[in-house]
Amino acid sequence: MSTIFKKIIDKEIPANIVYEDDDFLAFYDIQPQAKVHVIVIPKKEIKNLDEATEEDVLVLGKLQLTIAKIARKLGISKDGYRVITNINENGGQTVFHMHYHILGGEKLPENFK
Ligand code: IMP
Repeated sequence: MSTIFKKIIDKEIPANIVYEDDDFLAFYDIQPQAKVHVIVIPKKEIKNLDEATEEDVLVLGKLQLTIAKIARKLGISKDGYRVITNINENGGQTVFHMHYHILGGEKLPENFK
C-alpha cells in the first residue's frame, strides 16, 4: 500500500526536504510539534519497527547515524533533541511507512509525545 511518504520519495507530492541520499529522505513535518520538527524515512518501504526484519539491520543502523547527521546539519545537536517513532494504533502511528521524528530547537516538555 502506497503512503504519502512514498509519494514524497517519488516526488509525486512536494516536501520541504532537508536531507536526501540513496537510502534516506528527511523533510520538515507539515504540522510541527516543536520549533524544529523533521521526519526521517528510509526509502525502503518498511511499515514500522515492528515489521522490520534481520534483512533491515544495515538500513536500521545507518538510519540512526543519518538521524544524528541531520540533527547536526539542523544545528540542534549541541542543545539536544528527541527522536521518536510511533508504532501502530496505540503508538499513534498515522503514516504506515517507517519514520522517525526529530524534535528540537527548544526545551521539550518531559511528557512530550
Ligand atoms: P505519525 O503519527 O508518527 O505516523 O506521524 C506522521 C507525521 O507525518 C505527522 O507528524 C504528520 O504531521 C506528518 N505528515 C503527514 N503528511 C505529511 C506531509 O505531506 N509532509 C510532511 N509531513 C507530513
